[in-house]
Amino acid sequence: MANYDFQVLVLGSGPGGYVAALRAAELGMKTACVEKMETLGGTCLNVGCIPSKALLQSSESYEFIVERAGEQGIAVKGATFDLDAMMKRKATIVKGLVDGIAMLFKGKKIERLQGTAKFIDPHTVDINGKKVTAENIIIATGSESISLPFLPFDEKRVVSSTGALSLKTVPKKLLVIGAGAIGVELASVYRRLGSKVSIIEMLDTITPAMDAAICKQLQTLLKKQGIEFYLGAKVKSGIINDASVTLSVEYENKPMTMEGDVVLVAVGRRPYTKALDLDKAGMTLSPKGFVPVDANFRTTQPHIYAIGDVIEGPMLAHKASSEGIAAVELIAGHETHLNYMAIPNVIYTHPEVAAVGLTEAEARAAGLDIIIGTSFFRGNGRARCSGETDGFVKVIGEKKSNRLIGMHMIGAHASEMIAEGMLAMDKKATIADIAYACHAHPSLSETIMEAAQAAKGS
Ligand code: FAD
Repeated sequence: MANYDFQVLVLGSGPGGYVAALRAAELGMKTACVEKMETLGGTCLNVGCIPSKALLQSSESYEFIVERAGEQGIAVKGATFDLDAMMKRKATIVKGLVDGIAMLFKGKKIERLQGTAKFIDPHTVDINGKKVTAENIIIATGSESISLPFLPFDEKRVVSSTGALSLKTVPKKLLVIGAGAIGVELASVYRRLGSKVSIIEMLDTITPAMDAAICKQLQTLLKKQGIEFYLGAKVKSGIINDASVTLSVEYENKPMTMEGDVVLVAVGRRPYTKALDLDKAGMTLSPKGFVPVDANFRTTQPHIYAIGDVIEGPMLAHKASSEGIAAVELIAGHETHLNYMAIPNVIYTHPEVAAVGLTEAEARAAGLDIIIGTSFFRGNGRARCSGETDGFVKVIGEKKSNRLIGMHMIGAHASEMIAEGMLAMDKKATIADIAYACHAHPSLSETIMEAAQAAKGS
């Protein structure tokens, strides 16, 4: 480490960066983390996973009381909600978590540097005029929302997910462009609170990363809840009026106009490398704007690593954190383990969607001989007791080895249940391992076992 200020300097404090910094400090390395925002935690804690889940929970609790509590013999008359109070609760949750990271940094003696980092040379970074040198640097600067060229964000009428997480009033009519995870989650929040919601999607499916059978079921259920879908539709232009936005859309080969008081543009996110001056560190971006890395997260400069949304791969918080730990352990000379096939992907709609491994289409495209088993929650005792009978679990195995290669589910608490699939994938379990494992009764997880039993018999 000789003449450097730090052994590890992490650029960005999202779930990639702060987890990397914590692990580096735990391994005894002199560590600093640079963050341009006032709070730590990145997109995930400040304007992503956490605030969206807080609002999803509040709106879901409200809808349960109004729409479904009656099924269980509970009569609640005149239930109302207070958007401002929901937003304050969200802010309190975020504050608690970001303050928690600051405390952890203090406790582990990680130096917190506030400002925007830009490279001066491969070992030196400028942070708002202050030069800092480091033996190893980890780029964890995350991603940003993509806007449409003809519809820039004003975060009032045309909002990114960030604006949608802080609306002051519930829109009467919300237009959502993009039916990915962020689009359908935020559409759900405002639909539950009374917005009329239309989702416009260029592809002919919603949530395209998921297994086709799950996408179909999710769309059916969201439609039943009142969300309108325009699939295969292209937004051509938009006009921002005083109190609304008008979109020109091509749908089923015909032009049409759609009007909403708020438009959420959720067409994806792109890696964020603005201001980093990567060329000063002798680095160039991939054609899609990602920081290119090898299997050990090393960039073309062997002492500069990159992790999280800024590198290729699914843009997920837990993927960023796992990469952060792996990169730091490699820097420390340890062996590490990260199995990309075992990274779960969750959508927090009601019901939730969760998946790990290959979809059926991916497995078939890879030429694999597969076995499939499906089991429905409507046959599950616990699901019936909870009044949560929508959805199913689908497991996919490779026929010859009997190994699990994909698990997909739509149903209550899928975000928690997918942990079984994640561990099974990571530990290379077989379909029989899952089918014969004695699952608690009554529990939703029995549906996983029964799907595996169905696959075994198929
Ligand atoms: P980020 O969290 O984006 O953090 C990067 C940090 O770097 C930021 O704080 C930024 O300010 C800072 N930075 C950037 N450039 C510089 C610079 N030059 N100098 C100093 N600091 C800099 N993922 C899930 O897994 N589950 C979910 O449920 C989920 N929900 C989401 C909901 C929404 C609405 C959004 C927008 C995202 C969601 N995500 C979810 C995605 C998740 O937030 C990201 O995958 C994750 O935050 C990526 O972590 P990261 O550390 O790579 O980057």
